[in-house]
Amino acid sequence: MEKHEGFMKALKCRECGREYPLGATHVCEFDFGPLEVAYDYERISKTLTRTAIEARPRTMWRYRELLPIAGEPTVGLQVGYTPLVKADRLAKHLGIRELWIKNDAVNYPTLSFKDRVVSVALSRSQELGFKTVACASTGNLANSVAANAASAGLKSYVFIPSDLELGKVVNSLVYGANVIGIKGHYDEVNRLCAEIAGKFGWAFVNVNMRPYYAEGSKSMGFEICEQLGWRTPQHTVVPMASGSLLTKIHKSYQEFAKLGLVKESSWHIHGAQATGCNPISQAEKAGMDFFKPVKPNTIAKSLAIGTPADGFYALKVMKETGGHADDVTDDEVREGIRMLAECEGIFAETAGGVTVSVAKKLIASGKIPASDSAVLCITGNGLKTLEAMTGHVGQTCEIRPSLREFEAMLKDEEKVAVTA
Ligand SMILES: *Cc1c(COP(=O)(O)O)cnc(C)c1O
Ligand SMILES: [Zn+2]
Repeated sequence: MEKHEGFMKALKCRECGREYPLGATHVCEFDFGPLEVAYDYERISKTLTRTAIEARPRTMWRYRELLPIAGEPTVGLQVGYTPLVKADRLAKHLGIRELWIKNDAVNYPTLSFKDRVVSVALSRSQELGFKTVACASTGNLANSVAANAASAGLKSYVFIPSDLELGKVVNSLVYGANVIGIKGHYDEVNRLCAEIAGKFGWAFVNVNMRPYYAEGSKSMGFEICEQLGWRTPQHTVVPMASGSLLTKIHKSYQEFAKLGLVKESSWHIHGAQATGCNPISQAEKAGMDFFKPVKPNTIAKSLAIGTPADGFYALKVMKETGGHADDVTDDEVREGIRMLAECEGIFAETAGGVTVSVAKKLIASGKIPASDSAVLCITGNGLKTLEAMTGHVGQTCEIRPSLREFEAMLKDEEKVAVTA
């Protein structure tokens, strides 16, 4: 009883395999398992070849057959195909043979990987006839929903914890979105949104639209493979909030291998969290299949989800691929941001600091062998979390507009350099 829509076959329960029509729904009625989009890979393999992909525009939509919309995309047409940067200076610093940065800090239009998931979720929302879109967010998702909804002429409601960074709040308000600040943690925001989604007929991108939304993350993995010359990386280090991005990067490598777009080879997916919110990494380090919920307390607010919806599946992916997780303190987060900035000229937000510092730990412990090659997923921009670095990056040298004062300043600096 499958009604094909584009290359999608149905929504399918991850637990029991029951199939559902391709509507705005996200849990199985029988076991509350999450629903996932199932595709017709045989049909996809007929059109999705390396040559076809390479001839298409440089956006995430060049992998369109593997993204869950029925027709052509209508929202976020410019999203994706961000740079994959060979990071030789950072590689040397972290003590690994080869290192790459997948830089979604410069994704279009709102400078985080969330533009990928939102362009898919909103394109699908339009297909399903929604006029109002919404989300529960730790910041970047709110920015992306607000911006992409504005450009599509959709009404939006974005729900965030009220104590977010100023940059993330302003970056939602400026597009004219209805921004609701909830006095509570993300997990409380999310619970409220589940209630609202049931009552109002809105497309909540990460609640009732979650099966479509989550698939957008695969495009980051597709791009990594293509940009590496059609191969999967040995190691990929991924920041984890709900754990969804990590599971979808794995799925993207599996799909490319299944379709023969990359050679069948093994890969390891590693997860990164902040110590102040480490439910998934704590469980991985203890060898557990399940996580214990935590109450978040970290400067990495974009990753501060204490009850991660995909935590169980993220643990499974790490186990299956021989990957590991670790977590880092707020000071290490700042150090990670500085290392990436000073070595590669890339200013990432706190989640990027988490990823770099966790990679450093995994390399130092041999969990990522120094003789291997790794890709770090940098998912957000440092200009949005300025308060995390304010007071931790040195100071401006202030002088009057006078050559004499400038020369005197240089002399002082030399003195400091010599005595130091
Ligand atoms: C949302 C987000 C993530 C990860 O999200 P998942 O819920 O694990 O998919 C990573 N980095 C940044 C900057 C984010 O905003
Ligand atoms: Zn089920």
